[in-house]
Amino acid sequence: MAKDYYATLGLQKGASADDIKKAYRKMSKELHPDKHRGDKAVEEKFKAVNEAYEVLSDPQKKQMYDQFGEAGVNGQAGGFGQGGFGGGQGGFGGFDFSNFGGNADTFSDLFEGFFGGRSRAAEREQGHDIETELIIDLSEVVTGARHEIKVRKLTRCDRCDGAGAEPGSKVITCPECGGTGQVTRTAQSFFGMVRQTVVCPKCRGGGKVPESACKKCDGEGRIQESAAIAVDVPPGIQDGQSLRLRGQGEAGRRGATAGDLYVHIHVRADSKFQRDGDDIRSSVEIPALDAILGITIDVETMHGSVSLKIPEGTQPGQVMRLKGKGLPVLNTSRFGDQYVTVKVKIPTKLSREERRLLEEWRRMK
Ligand SMILES: [Zn+2]
Ligand SMILES: [Zn+2]
Repeated sequence: MAKDYYATLGLQKGASADDIKKAYRKMSKELHPDKHRGDKAVEEKFKAVNEAYEVLSDPQKKQMYDQFGEAGVNGQAGGFGQGGFGGGQGGFGGFDFSNFGGNADTFSDLFEGFFGGRSRAAEREQGHDIETELIIDLSEVVTGARHEIKVRKLTRCDRCDGAGAEPGSKVITCPECGGTGQVTRTAQSFFGMVRQTVVCPKCRGGGKVPESACKKCDGEGRIQESAAIAVDVPPGIQDGQSLRLRGQGEAGRRGATAGDLYVHIHVRADSKFQRDGDDIRSSVEIPALDAILGITIDVETMHGSVSLKIPEGTQPGQVMRLKGKGLPVLNTSRFGDQYVTVKVKIPTKLSREERRLLEEWRRMK
């Protein structure tokens, strides 16, 4: 589909640099992923706006776009939508969190290859990002956990090791384009005959093709398979957070860069402990006399049983704090607290002796 960068920014063709900048500022603010977390449609639009601005704000790229339009761009930005985001480094054990850092440098890097020939073709061959879900128990939030998940995806072909060539056969220069990765076509347009340079359909821009294609993957260098992937869930992860496993998405075509795997984490509700951010909420029930006189009891926490002193005169519903007995705070060595709500059980049946003693107490008051 043709991309109209002007329309993406809500502008007419030939808009001034000032108008372009103004439109971009306004739209990128409105569509910023920080304001629309998890909204895929907005995210896509945000990327499109940034892509349009990258081209239209650069006089050289703008000129090429204005001149060649679709022909200069068509099919060459295919890989652009992948992997532009998720810059926020979590710094934990080799993966990061998809916080949508959205820094401008990422866009610039991607655009280096935009009009530059080879690298943009390589981008088109990249494996897609994939997503999956993982449900963990609250206890695993305390310790962190390693899970092995099964994902069906395009994986690197083991017969040709991703190259796409039948073992023993050579990789040769593409006969279609002579290794340039591009072919020139003549097409009829509204303005007459135009010559367009497009990505070579045979080598898809790579300039090289196997002499004979791998029999297992048909020359693609990747096959649809079920793969087992180890996922290390860090302590303190929140429900709804995602882990990004670099290079664990779909394999690229013929050894091109693989996509990433996003694992969306869901934390199962626990019957005893309620999560409140990094804190835990729980409750205990004690007999009325213990609330009146005070007592030390054992209370369950996520870290085992601890003693809790119930002071004399504790009221029903009073909340006691167990410092540091909550959940680990992600990427730190700190812990939240546990808050224990004390419920007081009023006896419903009294023995003759109990009644006598309590009535005596009442008379004293
Ligand atoms: Zn193969
Ligand atoms: Zn070719």
